[in-house]
Amino acid sequence: MSSDCLFCRIIAGELPASQVYADDSVVAIRDIAPQAPTHILILSRKHIASIRDLGKADHDLIGRILEVGTELATREGIAEDGYRIAVNVGRNGGQTVDHLHVHLLGGRPMAWPPG
Ligand code: AMP
Ligand code: ZN
Repeated sequence: MSSDCLFCRIIAGELPASQVYADDSVVAIRDIAPQAPTHILILSRKHIASIRDLGKADHDLIGRILEVGTELATREGIAEDGYRIAVNVGRNGGQTVDHLHVHLLGGRPMAWPPG
């Protein structure tokens, strides 16, 4: 846990969030500024700054994050129409919170390429 990290503080219950799922390794919350009818963030419980900082020991963790993404897509009713799972990395990638998270977006058609 990093005490100056927004998502660590949400995971610790120090800051409020709309939690949709939690287990031993991940927590999923609704994005505070949704970019689609469904916009969920799947967070690692462990503080890892970015996907660039994943080690070999974290392979199960990133696998579980993606699995939870697909499970939540089904639960949200967006799986059949399709959805997007996205990871923003660094400044050019649009990352604004330095704690590993995967976006699950759906409920509307997504453009490609992204902006
Ligand atoms: P990224 O830009 O990929 O780092 O994603 C960070 C996301 O966190 C953005 O989509 C923000 O809208 C979202 N966000 C920021 N603060 C909060 C919060 N307190 N609760 C839920 N989502 C948040
Ligand atoms: Zn953190």
